[in-house]
Amino acid sequence: MQVPAHIFREYDVRGVVESDLLPATVTALGRALGTAFRRAGATRVGVARDVRPSGDAIRDQIVEGLRSTGCDVVDYGRASTGVFYHAQATGQEQAGVVITGSHNPPEFNGFKLVLEGGSFFGEQIQELLRIIEDEDFETGEGSLSSREILEAYVADVVSKVSIDRPVRFAYDSGNGAASLGASALFAALGQKPVALFDEPDGSFPNHHPDPTIPEFLTDLRDTVLEQGLELGVAYDGDADRIGVIDERGEILWGDRLLILYARDLFERMPGAKVIHDVKCSQTLTDAVNAAGGEAVVWKTGHSLIKKKMKETGAPLAGEMSGHLFFGENWYGFDDALFATARLLAILARESRPLSELLADIPRLEATPEIRVDCSDATKFAVVDHVREHFRAIAPIVDIDGVRVQFEHGWGLVRASNTQPALVVRVEADTVERRDAYRAQVEEAIAQARRVVEV
Ligand SMILES: [Zn+2]
Repeated sequence: MQVPAHIFREYDVRGVVESDLLPATVTALGRALGTAFRRAGATRVGVARDVRPSGDAIRDQIVEGLRSTGCDVVDYGRASTGVFYHAQATGQEQAGVVITGSHNPPEFNGFKLVLEGGSFFGEQIQELLRIIEDEDFETGEGSLSSREILEAYVADVVSKVSIDRPVRFAYDSGNGAASLGASALFAALGQKPVALFDEPDGSFPNHHPDPTIPEFLTDLRDTVLEQGLELGVAYDGDADRIGVIDERGEILWGDRLLILYARDLFERMPGAKVIHDVKCSQTLTDAVNAAGGEAVVWKTGHSLIKKKMKETGAPLAGEMSGHLFFGENWYGFDDALFATARLLAILARESRPLSELLADIPRLEATPEIRVDCSDATKFAVVDHVREHFRAIAPIVDIDGVRVQFEHGWGLVRASNTQPALVVRVEADTVERRDAYRAQVEEAIAQARRVVEV
């Protein structure tokens, strides 16, 4: 059977509903998944979906495919990705699928996959494509039941996080999956926040649910400033990524946030390992090490970070993009609602405002994430050449593309795992040096392209 190969990506399966995720394709995906799960010894599969209107039909199709392989399906209903992960970490199901288009526009949908509590990704996803092309499906007659998962999630968070006082904050669900659980969770934690766009609506009528884009944080920032709140929190479409605004209206990116969580963690677990991805600021590495912890730089990608946490036993990890992972007294997955609860707990104990908690952390000059178009056929070879160029002249970290250490900053060049593009980021202590380093990095890319793209 032929299905579009490009929907089988590094960390998930994703596509446009009308053209890529046709009913026959989704059912075939369900059959392939059920086959892969059964061959791995998993027969009970949990299925959740986000708030997109296409989710209902896609749920029916994926469930049909899963059951046809003999997997017993448990329908969790609609849930954010974190609540789904929690059900997987604590329930009887051995594998799971959450139907979500994450932060993508309404016409998209997709699937994030879990097997035995760990991410199902990379080669495992490519294997699904092979199973479909070969029509190498298991057969059987699985059952269908349902299970409510939010209540147990809320009870578990409340048992593990205590917030000493009501914190004055606003949250913006962006009409995404956060809206399915945020109000219940915050009420149970004794909080009375201001809620923005907290009605589930997968057409995303107010703004796009992506907190890495400053434009989509404007409503939240205005609310924080107008009402004199202590902070604002925003979520992406499936609420596995967080965006935070401090009381002065400034954005705290994932790397600065992680410093707060790390310092809090070290009070209970001095010397702990903290993993962060290659895109994060040097100030994070320095702050973790200065606080007596051990910073571990790792590859970008939520599945890769979770795997590394298991391997190293690190109780905390984070990405620039706002994926934050808590393993201390929790299960190690990325969940922006849980990240909010932990942040509120930290703030509630503090007499200082959020901005002052990081006042001692230098503000370096960083570029945003720059995407440079580069074909899938050449992007890895281009990065290889750039890596060898810098290896000869400066210290480098080469676990994910190349991160070159300059005297007063660093530059990153890596191949995107999800797009035909290179990802570039540069940071330095001054704007002038940042721009000079950026020029060096861009020159190295141009040289590499001259060699590779002939
Ligand atoms: Zn997401």
